[in-house]
Amino acid sequence: MTKPESAEYDYDVVISGASLAGSAAAILLARAGVRVALLERRSDPEAHKALCTHSLTANAYPVLDELGLIPALERAGAVRNEARWYTRWGWIEPRAAPEGPELPYAYNIRRSTLDPLIRSHAAQTPGVDLLLGHQVTGLVREAGRTVGVRASTPQGEREIPARLVVGADGKDSAVAKFAEVPARLHENARFGYLAHFRNLPLHGGIGHTWFLEPDMAYAFPNDDGVTVMAVLPDKKRLPAFREDLEGSFLEFVRALPEAPPIDSAERITKITGTVNYPLHSRKPTAPGVALIGDAALTGDPLWGVGCGWALQSAQWLAEAVASAATGRGDLDRSLALYARRHRRRLRGHQYLAADYARARPFNPLERLMFSAAARDESLARHMHRFASRLIGPLRFLNPVAVAKASAVNIKHRGAAAPVAAPVAAPAAPPATSADGAVGR
Ligand SMILES: Cc1cc2nc3c(=O)[nH]c(=O)nc-3n(C[C@H](O)[C@H](O)[C@H](O)COP(=O)(O)OP(=O)(O)OC[C@H]3O[C@@H](n4cnc5c(N)ncnc54)[C@H](O)[C@@H]3O)c2cc1C
Repeated sequence: MTKPESAEYDYDVVISGASLAGSAAAILLARAGVRVALLERRSDPEAHKALCTHSLTANAYPVLDELGLIPALERAGAVRNEARWYTRWGWIEPRAAPEGPELPYAYNIRRSTLDPLIRSHAAQTPGVDLLLGHQVTGLVREAGRTVGVRASTPQGEREIPARLVVGADGKDSAVAKFAEVPARLHENARFGYLAHFRNLPLHGGIGHTWFLEPDMAYAFPNDDGVTVMAVLPDKKRLPAFREDLEGSFLEFVRALPEAPPIDSAERITKITGTVNYPLHSRKPTAPGVALIGDAALTGDPLWGVGCGWALQSAQWLAEAVASAATGRGDLDRSLALYARRHRRRLRGHQYLAADYARARPFNPLERLMFSAAARDESLARHMHRFASRLIGPLRFLNPVAVAKASAVNIKHRGAAAPVAAPVAAPAAPPATSADGAVGR
């Protein structure tokens, strides 16, 4: 093992992984005076995550703003992520209230644009050493506590000691594995494939999500006129789907309500995907260790929220530990604060996501809220705030919102019911025959 120069191992924090969570944490910690080594196993500064549909939910906006990335994102062509959601009751189309503030938003921006942008921002931040081609291969432990990492580097193996080691190394986190932090897995009963297209216009130029119970699909406009199209069917369909991947993908898209014109679009990437993507949750701290982003919690891709949480968890960690990481405070207590905040903010979301990942149809409460949101603008806005992860499940399902949704549906049924028996009444559309009124 090569002995490092003394200046090289003099870091307060070592971060494993220079993607969204790791780069954001490095910037925020370094700005608070922490000396950070940001390790990335890949050596290409332009490296990016391929398996992603690039939609950053509105909860990401304040972090992107704090990181100072908004002007660069807008210059890079990031698209504000308005969206509409198809349900069997019709489209949920959240819009700002007349005279009200605009809806909270963040951006759709391809990871091939976003990842190099945030990583170079980290590299330019005084106090951050971005070490590319450095793969964490083990932890340095003393008396049951992590006090640094071992890494394979272009110059050979080296040890990098630090007060705190941060695992920002994704769902299969090496840091979590070496620190022996167990993962709680939840099966995901859907598989997913995605591809990028040019010349694939979307209704209103905005994102689309299709809740097909249990299958799902979505399409998001991105920077540079590229649209990403993703399908997430029930795994029961996988054997037939795989027999002709391209044919099945196209057929699935063609069959969507208000399907985008896929046949006249130009596919510019391979159809890639994953057939086994369980959700993970890990305790986000261990002695001398913190986990952020997917390393701490990997959600279901169908909700498109992992990037926002990667950025937010980086911010929560930096706020909790910046001072202690420089030796001015109790690091264990700071880590406990971070763990508590992480749990409080994300546990409920993950609980609901793990349940829905069973590829079941909507449950009665979901039927109530989704059907009412398709019929009522203020409930559509309420749903937008939940889907943007600006409110948690408890606020989403608060008694006032549930009562309002019930009232909307009762009124809708009243309006749909015939006043007197018509001579030749048209058949009621399926949308109204299966609404989500309470008690169904
Ligand atoms: C199909 C699919 C679609 C998705 N779509 C969306 C979406 O639309 N919106 C959304 O918000 N989320 C989406 N997600 C989730 C999102 O991609 C992740 O939540 C997000 O990338 C997590 O960021 P991260 O920084 O925690 O980890 P990652 O982006 O996974 O980065 C981990 C980094 O660690 C590095 N690394 C790994 N091991 C080591 C090691 N031993 N040493 C050093 N470096 C290491 C890796 O090279 C990588 O750079 C999707 C996920 C999937 C699978």
